[in-house]
Amino acid sequence: MPRGIYKRKKENHPKTAFKKGHTPWNKNLTKETDERVKNIGKKSGKTKKRLYKEGKIKHFTKFNLTKEELNNLYWKENLSGYQIGKKVGVEGTTIYRWLKKYNIKRRTTSESSKLNPSRYWLGKHPTPETEFKKGCIPWNKNKKGVYSKETRRKMGLAKTGDKSPSKRPEVREKLRLANLGEKNPNYGKKRSFESKKKTSASHQGIPLEEWTHFTSFNPYSPEFNDRLKKYLRKKYNYICQLCGDKIIKQTPKKFLCIHHINYNKKDCREENLTPLCNFCNTSVNKNREDWIKFFQNKINLNNLTT
Ligand SMILES: [Zn+2]
Repeated sequence: MPRGIYKRKKENHPKTAFKKGHTPWNKNLTKETDERVKNIGKKSGKTKKRLYKEGKIKHFTKFNLTKEELNNLYWKENLSGYQIGKKVGVEGTTIYRWLKKYNIKRRTTSESSKLNPSRYWLGKHPTPETEFKKGCIPWNKNKKGVYSKETRRKMGLAKTGDKSPSKRPEVREKLRLANLGEKNPNYGKKRSFESKKKTSASHQGIPLEEWTHFTSFNPYSPEFNDRLKKYLRKKYNYICQLCGDKIIKQTPKKFLCIHHINYNKKDCREENLTPLCNFCNTSVNKNREDWIKFFQNKINLNNLTT
């Protein structure tokens, strides 16, 4: 068994544990009489590191290049840090650290990519092997767990907002045609009463057992008339209070609804009403409690500023 293992629990070792009546090996021995006593307290072990600290050698790791040698390898032989590292037998990051220590300028990204053109053109020009062929199935199609969570997040961020492909008109048109008419997965299907009940209950935010009726059939109060609606649209300058679209002309495709903030159709106070476009109006059916807070805060803020 190697000695080092017993080093830590020396007192437990049967051979070296202190026993009563036992005489220590160095009892009554002096420097003059015994060599072993002479060496007590002397530095031992990592000699190379000690020499480095004393300044007798320049490196105590495998890395032992001088500034000139490193400069030659990097700038004259045009090797990368990782290639030099492989030659010397250290990590590439060590080389980059020493480049910094020696104040040697590093290549820029474009300079280094010119040194390695095959890598520079990677993915920029399709080769006969990599170009898209009709009928070819992508390697990652229908596969799960291919990308890590971090990668998926980055891929998602790269396509958010204005970068989203669905912002481009030609893509929008393609998507529209792809799901039109009979191609629509819901074409000719009718939803069952049970399914409708489930949706309604989830929109109202109550469990299915407590569900009694569809709130969309609730009658509006007589106050909620065209005059009031027109007045409110004008008051908010014909702007949807969620997406900010301005809709002056009402068409069957896009129009400005008046939304009841607390979802109570009988509550027609001005502070309970806000204009929303028809798209936004459907989207506020879910998570009703959050939306109530959101719009009430907005109205309170408006009242403070005006
Ligand atoms: Zn809207």
